[in-house]
Amino acid sequence: MTSAVTTKTPITVAKGDGIGPEIMAATLHVMQEAGASLDIETIEIGESVYDKGHSGGILPESWDSLLRTKVFLKAPITTPQGGGFKSLNVTVRKTLGLYANIRPCVAYAPFVKTKHPGMDVVIVRENEEDTYAGIEHRQTDDVYQCLKLITRPGTEKIVRYAFEYARANNRKKVTCFSKDNIMKMTDGLFHKVFDEVGQEYPDLEKEFWIVDIGAAKLADTPEVFDVVVMPNLYGDILSDVTAQIAGSVGLAGSSNIGAKAAMFEAIHGSAPRRAGQNLANPSGLLLAGVMLLVYVGQIEAAERMHNAWLKTLEDGIHTYDIFKEGFSKQKVGTKEFAQAIAARVGQVPQHLKVVRYSPTPINPEKLGFRPNPPQKKETIGVDVFLHHRGQSPDELGAALQKVQGELKLDMLSNRGVKVWPKGIPETYCVDNWRCRFLAEPFKSPLRHQQIIDLLKRVTDAGFEFIKIENLCTFDGEINFSLGQGQ
Ligand code: NAD
Repeated sequence: MTSAVTTKTPITVAKGDGIGPEIMAATLHVMQEAGASLDIETIEIGESVYDKGHSGGILPESWDSLLRTKVFLKAPITTPQGGGFKSLNVTVRKTLGLYANIRPCVAYAPFVKTKHPGMDVVIVRENEEDTYAGIEHRQTDDVYQCLKLITRPGTEKIVRYAFEYARANNRKKVTCFSKDNIMKMTDGLFHKVFDEVGQEYPDLEKEFWIVDIGAAKLADTPEVFDVVVMPNLYGDILSDVTAQIAGSVGLAGSSNIGAKAAMFEAIHGSAPRRAGQNLANPSGLLLAGVMLLVYVGQIEAAERMHNAWLKTLEDGIHTYDIFKEGFSKQKVGTKEFAQAIAARVGQVPQHLKVVRYSPTPINPEKLGFRPNPPQKKETIGVDVFLHHRGQSPDELGAALQKVQGELKLDMLSNRGVKVWPKGIPETYCVDNWRCRFLAEPFKSPLRHQQIIDLLKRVTDAGFEFIKIENLCTFDGEINFSLGQGQ
């Protein structure tokens, strides 16, 4: 064992469920042999904790450790099925403010089979917002809703992280994916902020793809991508796709970075069917361990660990999932794979690129966002959502015009499609109607009392409103979407 660091870095470790304990033992063994200097606190998470009645999958006292060390190496857990349980991952990410999820997806051809030799893509996924804000409601018999939240500070933080990551890691290009041709406000903001922040990085190439064609291109020619930044949901899906086409989801590690804390994990789950058989590939967690060492500044140990792992792959010592008959040299279990890596500490790969980490990793505290100056906001209308059945759009429109008062009923839409005035009979309508009332004359400011009075008239007329959304201008500019077909 080589030891270059004298002060031990306190970290919190959780062994998780399924294959978790085996891959964690393998990872910690290699980290130690590579000379990592860590003071490890172990906490219990996952199935056993859920079984004790803690719906979050983590004991209250475990938070003390996490808040003390602020560095978490976490093995996968088995997520219980059914309602009443909260996702541990989402809880930890949100509580510790881990806004950036970094997932490097690298091909190791010809040593690990892949259709894309040469690919080396880093997915930078926003980690706290989007539909993962978890705000869902059933509104009517027919309709369930999940709110997609994209914020300017959240987007600025993740986009700036992507550019800083690219710079610190000698990357050349940052690509942004979003769906702003459809979601012009939320995904439009993501694109806009990418363009704005990108101007601060003239040394880096920038490009934008609409996520559908971007995803197709990423799956087809991943070698043309470098760093790719995207909102939460697209990033969750596409990072698995990208890791899998690089060779295997079992090979990818990830970091979850916040301003003051970080969590490191494999991207795969607890693979319960492989548990307890000394079969699992520990590489994902092992590379997460490398990322942890870089994060805490133990660069040399990180390089020793990463290069020994690459050399082991090159030497054809493979776990079952990447073993190729006639090509791999030895099929090994989890433990033996870790031993083989430990035995190669100090060696570097002969064919694959030797890994060198930047001695000045990104300081997340230098990242962030510029406060947005408040703009002049005026309410100029309201969308009233009704739970309603039994009337055609024309009948409903006529009934609501009778209660519009000093406002003007502008349109009805159903599932976002304008159905009144001048809808077409072919549009299928569910029991949830958006009824748009605007101030008269258009764009004149409304008092909130006028909206309350409108709601009273609507309710008195026998309608059930589910919710309202105020329609606002910011510095005179309209900031709401029109109905499709409007
Ligand atoms: P999974 O990633 O656990 O496993 C899918 C398959 O991939 C396995 O059957 C196995 O064949 C293979 N595999 C995965 N990791 C491997 C490894 N390290 N070595 C060798 N083969 C490997 O996905 P799943 O079966 O959908 O999920 C199992 C459980 O894990 C579920 O309860 C799920 O909710 C949970 N999960 C947890 C996390 C996490 O804690 N971060 C992430 C994803 C899934």
